[in-house]
Amino acid sequence: MVEERISRDEQSFVDMPVEHGRVYDAAGNAIYRAVGREYTLSFGAPRADMKDRVVTHNHTNGTSFSAKDLARAGYFDVAELRIITRDATGQAWLYRLQRPERGWPRLKETSAQIYLAAGESAAAKRILGQGATSTDAVADFVNNAMHYRMEHVATHFGLSYTREKVDC
Ligand SMILES: [Zn+2]
Repeated sequence: MVEERISRDEQSFVDMPVEHGRVYDAAGNAIYRAVGREYTLSFGAPRADMKDRVVTHNHTNGTSFSAKDLARAGYFDVAELRIITRDATGQAWLYRLQRPERGWPRLKETSAQIYLAAGESAAAKRILGQGATSTDAVADFVNNAMHYRMEHVATHFGLSYTREKVDC
């Protein structure tokens, strides 16, 4: 029920040309809304109001979590950080990152970037074995590379991380 409400709301901004964000309460009501730019977003909400919440935003380019996203998930101590995004083939994706029981790794953006970069060779190996899955090979490469990098980091820190297709 809550998941459905959130999903419906996410679909309302999946195709926006700039980032949109929401902070939801336990019932799935949006208690903060934010509109950013093509690749940035800031909620301007007090840290206490972000803690333990489900927070979502759209990415305008089909890609997974950024180093900044990783750093902020820990800084704000959210329960879950999500991305709704559409790739170059028109497929929509939901990316979810959930707080592990022992808590978020406290990463600064620069250190998150280092961990993501460390996942690059693992990502490249998987892509080379996988072949193209979309009609836009470059976008497909970038999206999957970021996804596999993120999986690598999530495994390292024991984070629950998923990517699923969304029909919208
Ligand atoms: Zn983001």
